[in-house]
This record gives sequence, C-alpha cells and structure tokens, in this order.
Amino acid sequence: MNQLTNCPIESNGDFDVLVCGAGMGGITAACMAAEQGLEVCVLEYFGEPGGIPVNGALGAISGFSDGEVVAVAGFPQRFADELERRGASLIQGGGSNINLPPSAISLLVWELLEFYNIQMRLYTSVIDTEVDANGRISSVVTSAKEGLRRVSAKLFIDATGDGDLAYMAGAPYEIGRPSDGKVMSASVIFIIGGIDKSRMPEYMEVRRIWKSRPRPVPIDHSVFQFVPHSPQSNEIAVNMTHSLDADPLISAGLTKIRRDCMKQAKYLLEEFFRKEIPGYENAWISRYAPQVGVRESRRIMGDYILTEEDVLEGRRFEDEIACGIWGIDVHNPDGIHTGVSHYITKPYGIPYRCITPRGLSNLFIAGRPISADHIAHSSSRINATCMAIGEAAGTAAKEAIDRQCTRMVDIPQLKSQLANNTYSYFNVKDEY
Ligand SMILES: Cc1cc2nc3c(=O)[nH]c(=O)nc-3n(C[C@H](O)[C@H](O)[C@H](O)COP(=O)(O)OP(=O)(O)OC[C@H]3O[C@@H](n4cnc5c(N)ncnc54)[C@H](O)[C@@H]3O)c2cc1C
Repeated sequence: MNQLTNCPIESNGDFDVLVCGAGMGGITAACMAAEQGLEVCVLEYFGEPGGIPVNGALGAISGFSDGEVVAVAGFPQRFADELERRGASLIQGGGSNINLPPSAISLLVWELLEFYNIQMRLYTSVIDTEVDANGRISSVVTSAKEGLRRVSAKLFIDATGDGDLAYMAGAPYEIGRPSDGKVMSASVIFIIGGIDKSRMPEYMEVRRIWKSRPRPVPIDHSVFQFVPHSPQSNEIAVNMTHSLDADPLISAGLTKIRRDCMKQAKYLLEEFFRKEIPGYENAWISRYAPQVGVRESRRIMGDYILTEEDVLEGRRFEDEIACGIWGIDVHNPDGIHTGVSHYITKPYGIPYRCITPRGLSNLFIAGRPISADHIAHSSSRINATCMAIGEAAGTAAKEAIDRQCTRMVDIPQLKSQLANNTYSYFNVKDEY
C-alpha cells in the first residue's frame, strides 16, 4: 500500500474471484471460475474487453496445433469453433490461426460475460493492492471515474499481461533478455482501408515486392505481414511496425512506441502500399489499434520457471495444466524480426507452478506474464496458450478458495477436472 492510497477508501465490491485484465487470458479465467458457481468480477482499463486480439486490432488467435499435433483444446478450442461458426477463417499449420475482425471477438466475449453473470468494470485501472504479512492479498485499489476505490475478493487472478498486480503485491519478476534486460520490440497494428481487393495481388506476390525493395530499418518483419480480418471487407490489418528500446511499463515508453509506430505506418502507406501495390492507390489508414502491442514486459517468477530447453525438448510435467506448441518467436530487441526462429513439433507442458507467484498465497497468473525465461516466454505468450493457462487458473479457483491457498490445490484432481471441464455457454449453443 503506498502513500496515495493509504487513506480511507470506499469499498466497491467483494467477490469470490477478482480478475485484473480482460485480455483472452483473463476472460477465459473469469468464465471458468464462474462456470463453478463463483462470483466473479473483471477489472479492465480499456473501454472494451479482449486485450490484444481486440484492442490491439490483431483479430487473431494462434497456437492451437502445429497443423497436426493438437496442443490446446478445451475452452480456447470451443471459443475458436464458435468464431469459425460465425465466419472466422481458420488457417491450419504453423501454429494454426483463427482470423476475424476484432469486433466479432469482442461480441462473443460480451455474450460470455452476460451468460456467466460476470461483473465487468471497464475504464478501471488497478493501481495498488493490500497484502498481509502471510502473502495474502485482501483487496486491490482501483482508479476510475468515481475516484479511488477498494475491491476485495478471496482469490485474485492477474491477467494484466504485464503482471501489474503481482508486481504491486511484491512478487519477484524478471524482464527482457538476460544479457541486458532488453525486451522484444513492440508494435502498433494499424488498419488500411479503401483497398480495391479485386486488384490486390496474392499475398505471396506482395511479400515478394516487399522483400525485393530497400527497407528502412527498423520496420518489423523481413517479410510483408498482414492479418486478413475478413475476406469480405476492403480492409487489412498490418502488423509491421516495430519500436525498439522503449520501456513498456512507463507511460513515456508506451508513448514512444506509439509515436515510432505511427510514423512507420505513415511511411508504409505512402511509400510502399500506395506506390507499389496494385489496389492500394487510394488506400488510407482508417485506424490505429488503441492498445500498444507489447510483446514482452514482466515475467512473474513462480514456483517453477519454464525454460528454453523445456520448450525445445517438448518436456512434460506431472503438474502441467496447459500446453504450448508455438515456436520460439523472439522479435529481436535490436532490429528486424525474421519470423519464428525455431519451430517445435512436440507440445511442451506448462506446470501449475508457473502460475503461482512466489510469496503470495491467493494469486494466480493467467496469460502472458507466467513464470518463464525470455526464450520460453516468446512461445508461451501466444493467445491459445494464454487462454489455456486462463482456463487452468479459473478452474483451480474454487479449490484454491476452499483450501485458502493456491498451493493446497490437488493437482491430479485439477488435471482430471481440466480434462472433463464442461462449458455451459458452448453446450447450450450446441443444443440449438
Ligand atoms: C503486435 C503483436 C502481434 C501478435 N500476434 C499474435 C498472433 O498473430 N497470434 C497470437 O495468438 N498471438 C499474437 N500475439 C501475442 C498475444 O496477442 C499476446 O501475448 C496475448 O494476447 C496476451 O494475452 P493476455 O490476456 O495475457 O494479455 P493482454 O491481451 O495484453 O490483456 C491484458 C489486459 O489487461 C488490461 N490491463 C493491463 N494492466 C491493467 C491494469 N493495471 N488495470 C486494469 N487493466 C489492466 C489491458 O488493458 C488488457 O486488456 C501478438 C502480440 C503482439 C503484441
């Protein structure tokens, strides 16, 4: 508790589970906790749930399989199936992607929140927390339109992507690569509208044009990369901007990322797309993602640290609660990203111990900042894996509450529960 919040603050709710952050990790955790009858609230500082796939304008969820071997099933797969039913395109192979407009993802998220009766508080930042001497969090302090408020719960799930709550609660963390602490480059995805798609060359041809021309460093990706949100629309989302040497954990750093990327987007539109790609002559930038695309920030140290070797060797663990199969995908902190540098063919396990931050007894991590080294994190940060981790955290929530400690959860029982989870929302849909 710092000085600012060391004053009487009104309570703004008391829940079984408080999920901080409404990205895909947090949403999945919230739904799975609610599935077990727990009273759940989600706090989110953007005006829309969904995290990077929605507010980062990514419109993609990847990492279910390598095209053959399935690593992630359960809730994330049911979520993807439902999106596919609504028109999303599924690209198998190389990590398997589901692509669609961000608005379709947020619509499904809203439907889930309503179905599960989950309280959602948008435009709300978690800025502090109260922790007792035994490492038990009793509440978080939020900052929103109404001022500072205290929200308490029995169990907390940090799904902020940056490990904000764990950090505020005093958990140890690491950041960046071991040699100098530099993090992967960050991006702002932008949307180009006004494209005549009937004249636009095939993706591979656009790639060839991009590769054959001189590129101003440090624009990201050695190849042209876009996410085809919807085949019907005349828009594409471009994931090519690339900001280096910015601290994603301070506002000045986030502002630098935004400024760098907006300049690069303008350059790309004017000097590449409009001049060199047929069909783009009258294109414009219709919007920039509101959320800065931070690939790496804090990694919260838990009871086990997932390593590069674990990922490369496809190591399995007795207490694994999720799996990943996305390759090693470090966006070079010093320059151009050359793509996934190391594909993996065997799924690796993510131990339960990676989601229990050291020194804290009622906090799980769900999503990007699990306990992993710099290289392992470059794989485990992918959306399907973040959702699988969220599913585990949400499923473990009831027992962690009943036993008053995350470390008292019966892991074999949790694993069997994960294998047999029911998903009321999707099952109801199946009955139509
Ligand atoms: C540019 C880019 C491209 C990517 N491409 C792909 C891809 O093609 N496929 C893929 O699967 N993955 C991709 N990823 C990775 C993936 O999108 C992320 O790692 C993943 O979405 C992380 O999920 P999360 O739920 O942990 O975090 P996030 O999606 O970041 O969600 C965290 C949420 O917490 C909120 N929050 C943060 N701090 C606070 C606070 N203090 N108080 C309240 N709320 C807070 C945020 O607003 C956000 O909504 C990409 C990432 C980036 C940046």
